[in-house]
Amino acid sequence: PPWLLCPQKCERCGRAGATIPCRAAAGCSRLYHFPCAAASGCFQSMKTLRLLCPEHVAEAVDMEDAQCSVCHGPGDLQNLVFCTGCGQYYHGACLNISLTPCKRSGWQCPECKVCQTCRQRGQDSAMLVCEACDKGYHTFCMEPAIQGLPTGSWKCKNCWVCSDCGRRPAGLDSSCPWSPGSTVCGDCQQRRATADVPTAPEHTPQLDPPSQLESPGPSEPMDAPMPLPELEPVEGDEETQPLLDPKEMVPDPTEAPSDPHEAPSDPHEAPP
Ligand SMILES: [Zn+2]
Ligand SMILES: [Zn+2]
Ligand SMILES: [Zn+2]
Ligand SMILES: [Zn+2]
Ligand SMILES: [Zn+2]
Ligand SMILES: [Zn+2]
Ligand SMILES: [Zn+2]
Repeated sequence: PPWLLCPQKCERCGRAGATIPCRAAAGCSRLYHFPCAAASGCFQSMKTLRLLCPEHVAEAVDMEDAQCSVCHGPGDLQNLVFCTGCGQYYHGACLNISLTPCKRSGWQCPECKVCQTCRQRGQDSAMLVCEACDKGYHTFCMEPAIQGLPTGSWKCKNCWVCSDCGRRPAGLDSSCPWSPGSTVCGDCQQRRATADVPTAPEHTPQLDPPSQLESPGPSEPMDAPMPLPELEPVEGDEETQPLLDPKEMVPDPTEAPSDPHEAPSDPHEAPP
């Protein structure tokens, strides 16, 4: 097949099968796939189907559809972004969007923005817009549904990345929850929470017998092998007293019933 001899490598993704050439007047060898052209900021005239690569995008000034829907001028041609819904161009600056390849690819203007889940328009008050890809999602189409619009930044499941472990929602197993409003996944959130709790010494040194001297207790709180003797002097006084020799009345720390090192209570699940 001819594409083996001439692989038609895409300027953006490097893969074969790119069929849309840059039509610069001076000639240009760049080729693109359709979505790659949009992502890299090519100008594509929907009227003449002529494409100009980012380097030659200035030539679009002569094309009649090189016009921003907001300011109605060609303006900064590199800043134009194409709506896949209505075919109109907009300046990123005119919409207050900083354009990235991720946003340019499959971009929809505010008039055409549909929910990525149900593909329906409308309900602007319930439409979440991902800050990374500028795609829309209804709050009620989310799983689980979100009540109200989050005030902070919000990223969709395709763009969200855990800032600790770098995993994406698709890479997390179902037992690891993540919230688009938080910066870390459920696992990392738990790891952070346990790291924040001051860790009590887990084990008591067993090499030295427990000291019978009770005086230096509070002076070395961290290294005291057994803080118990001060807390629980004697138990069951009345019942056991008759059986005991007075000299055995010294409290035996090894028989202390309760362990003060209780496992730190698990912090409640933080709300998103
Ligand atoms: Zn490509
Ligand atoms: Zn070109
Ligand atoms: Zn404009
Ligand atoms: Zn549109
Ligand atoms: Zn929806
Ligand atoms: Zn996104
Ligand atoms: Zn994580």
